[in-house]
Amino acid sequence: MPVRARLPVIMGAALLAFSVAGFVAGFLAGVPYPVALWTPLPVMCLLAASACREASRRADLDAATRRFWRHGMLCCVVLAVASVSNARDALSVPGGTQRFGPVSVTLYLSVLGLAVWALLRLPTWQRSRAEWVRFGLDTGIILITGGLLVWHFSLRKMAAWTSLTGSAVPALLIAIAAAVSMIAFAKVAYAGAGSLDRRAMHLVSFGIGAAGACTCLTLVLESHPGLNSAFVAVPVATFCAQLAGRRQVRCDVATPAARPVARRFSVVPYLAVAGMDAMLLGTDIARSAEGKVIAACTVAITALVVARQVTTLRENARLLRTVDASLHQLREYQAQLAHQVRHDTLTEIANRANFEERVTHQLLGGEEFLVALLDLDDFKVVNDRLGHGTGDALLKAVSRRLHERLREVDTVARLGGDEFTLLLPGLTGDEAATLLRRLVNAVQEPLTVDGHEMVPRISIGVTASVPGDTPGELLRRADVAMYAAKNDGGGRWAWFDPAMDRLADQDARLGADLRQALARGELRVLYQPIVELPDGRIAGVEALLRWHHPRHGEVSPAVFIPLAERNGAIIELGRWVFAQAVAQAAAWRREHGDAAPERVSVNVSARQLGEPGFVAEVEAAIRHAGVDPAVIVAEVTETAVLGTGAALEAIHGLSELGVRVALDDFGTGQSSLSLLVDCPVHVLKVDKSFVDGVTTASPEAVIVESLIGITSGLRIQAVAEGVETADQAHRLHQAGYRYAQGFHFARPMSGAEIAGLLRPAGPVPA
Ligand code: C2E
Ligand code: MG
Ligand code: MG
Repeated sequence: MPVRARLPVIMGAALLAFSVAGFVAGFLAGVPYPVALWTPLPVMCLLAASACREASRRADLDAATRRFWRHGMLCCVVLAVASVSNARDALSVPGGTQRFGPVSVTLYLSVLGLAVWALLRLPTWQRSRAEWVRFGLDTGIILITGGLLVWHFSLRKMAAWTSLTGSAVPALLIAIAAAVSMIAFAKVAYAGAGSLDRRAMHLVSFGIGAAGACTCLTLVLESHPGLNSAFVAVPVATFCAQLAGRRQVRCDVATPAARPVARRFSVVPYLAVAGMDAMLLGTDIARSAEGKVIAACTVAITALVVARQVTTLRENARLLRTVDASLHQLREYQAQLAHQVRHDTLTEIANRANFEERVTHQLLGGEEFLVALLDLDDFKVVNDRLGHGTGDALLKAVSRRLHERLREVDTVARLGGDEFTLLLPGLTGDEAATLLRRLVNAVQEPLTVDGHEMVPRISIGVTASVPGDTPGELLRRADVAMYAAKNDGGGRWAWFDPAMDRLADQDARLGADLRQALARGELRVLYQPIVELPDGRIAGVEALLRWHHPRHGEVSPAVFIPLAERNGAIIELGRWVFAQAVAQAAAWRREHGDAAPERVSVNVSARQLGEPGFVAEVEAAIRHAGVDPAVIVAEVTETAVLGTGAALEAIHGLSELGVRVALDDFGTGQSSLSLLVDCPVHVLKVDKSFVDGVTTASPEAVIVESLIGITSGLRIQAVAEGVETADQAHRLHQAGYRYAQGFHFARPMSGAEIAGLLRPAGPVPA
């Protein structure tokens, strides 16, 4: 450190040495009137003020600490004024005096008052009432004991001290005030306060204590009127303050010292009582006045100690209550946490970890059990179209339904997303089948979620445990079975079969190939005529997608369409088929005019209907091709329409565009005649399975016949699908059907082949 920076401290130390030496010399050698000893006092005060100011300007200290040092600076300045006033008092009498004038006393007391005020404003003092009481009681005990000891051993022997010095009372007052502030500073030094440096506080408390003690020197200066206790008291206090200020400027505040735990037990009160008792034993209470004073003080101290004890006990009781409450809360949090770790936050049922734990436990038990994996069909569509809030509400409703239908011993857990899993112990194959059928039916009952009518569909895969299984393997098998259930159209359950593993493998590979099929030019669209009965005139065509796989050859749409629906490729494929079909419709119209097919049907899957922006896309494709929207028929299945409110919305959108809507494969899904009312249906395609029985005396024949009555009543066109024989065609015509489609009339063919049939506008090959 450069000498310049240390200069104020060197000056302070030199002045302190000068003052102490001067005082000692004056006392021992009786130097008559050491006026010069007054001069260092204000200088040292200002040096201390400057150090405090420097500390108060340190930018990285907290606001309370900086304010404390500003107050310290003010104390030093007031002390400078007090020392000048004290000098004036002393020099006002020839030969000197130790009498304080009222101004000096007020100023000295103000300094101490200010110091204590500065302390009280520190955050460390924003404490509980109990701590305040304890501090007051401790201070009282120390003051009474200290005061009595000093009186007992020294002051009482100087009977005339007040009259001799005249300044003893104010000096004593100052000493008491100094003692109080010293205790306060020492307490802060012990407890710590933000970025306030502890050592600095030790220095300040030492300085104040030492100055207070020096003030008591007044009592031995009766024969040295030229000397004054301020000669040492003020330099000691100010030098300590100067060192403290410097210490605060240089200390490291980056890591404030940890605050020591407040001690609730202190030996001080007991030592005080013991001291008092000792004094009491050594005095004759009854006779001497001193004995009475000591007795009175002992009573007072005992009362204070008892009060302190009571406060501590009460405080301890309060703390115990707080600890009790905290422990109780902690236990509650622990229980909550334990629940959260093992349960799904959304549905409150078990989570994956919990499920795997239970499966492991079950496996260790050695008894056979079943694991089922459940997945909601088209859940993504709900989330995309209706938002995650509705999706979450649907998941909650499904988990509730599952939970209600299971037995006590079963476990239902949510693995994440729309996947649930079941652990079903102790069921035979038949019992499991009954339970799963009931579950599928229960989940698939219509419900209203957030104001949207829905018919959730669920696919379940189930497998039985075998020795050596792991939770992961069981879930994998259940997953394969679940996909098989989805492949079969969803809304059903399937047992795991080892052959499924192979199929699942193939499925994955085929799915990957399908994603590339469009780019590789392996896809084409064929058109199957829809004819008018009985003459077979082409009334319309249905666009049907074909995939020629480079290795497997023609892949049936019954295989690759569900696959595309599962892996999402259907969105892109459907878009492509639609564009092809509308372009073809426009081409036929251009080339053949009125002879062109009046209607071109395109199959639209559930996933496409649920896709945001689907209607706008259809509109753009139609406009781009330049066809009349009324030529286009969107074929949708009942299940697709029933799935989510979004699908129904899209169908309304299509209808508003002028596109016609056909309900495909009618009678195979979850048929509901109310659909014909809610949904803008123009065409109803009666499924082949009904048409097959039309020539026999079967329920199918009855349905086919009654459907025609309903459709004509609702002004809906009925088309019979899959007509393979002339007999069927004849029977259908008799029943009132005007339109039909099937191999009996024509197989699906290319656009050019269709054009070939149109040119002569002649009969269609039978
Ligand atoms: P779909 O919409 O009901 O189409 C009619 C299906 O019945 C076609 O099968 C057609 O070839 C077949 N079919 C027509 N007449 C007869 C007949 O007399 N006997 C028999 N046994 N079958 C007949 P395909 O082309 O194999 O298509 C199967 C299903 O795949 C379609 O059923 C449709 O749901 C779906 N599909 C085909 N192309 C597309 C497409 O581009 N997009 C979508 N989303 N689905 C498509
Ligand atoms: Mg169709
Ligand atoms: Mg069909």
